[in-house]
Amino acid sequence: MNIQQILLYFGIPVAIAIIWLIQQLISKDLCQRRLEKENSEILQEISQLINEKTEYQKQLSVLRQQLFENSIKENISFKYGFDKRNNILRHKHTGDPYCNKCFATSNVESRLITEATGWRCDICGECYGDPDRNHRITEYRDL
Ligand SMILES: [Zn+2]
Repeated sequence: MNIQQILLYFGIPVAIAIIWLIQQLISKDLCQRRLEKENSEILQEISQLINEKTEYQKQLSVLRQQLFENSIKENISFKYGFDKRNNILRHKHTGDPYCNKCFATSNVESRLITEATGWRCDICGECYGDPDRNHRITEYRDL
């Protein structure tokens, strides 16, 4: 067996084994790069979904607040009637005066405090004149 025969005998299988190993390394590297790219895309999608979730939570919060305010308005309009003459709300059963401004601006039911010339809201400070009482006081002042 001469040197050429020995190289031919061992060289070809060794060369095939080396080529096979290189192919395995290349395919593993390609596979790993593909997986890393997929992971990166998945992370971007997760980040995008987290942002969308935050946006939906904000919208849900706004809608819940609107629902809450609407239910209060519905409840208040069921309980009170608007007294156009005095620009106040009146309880439908008791006739008690309530602040129109508090209801309109913040959906708060505030019973008005009766004063000499009308009513005053203890929460917002709004004063509502009573034309009947103002007339009497004007008369007294004239005397
Ligand atoms: Zn008020």
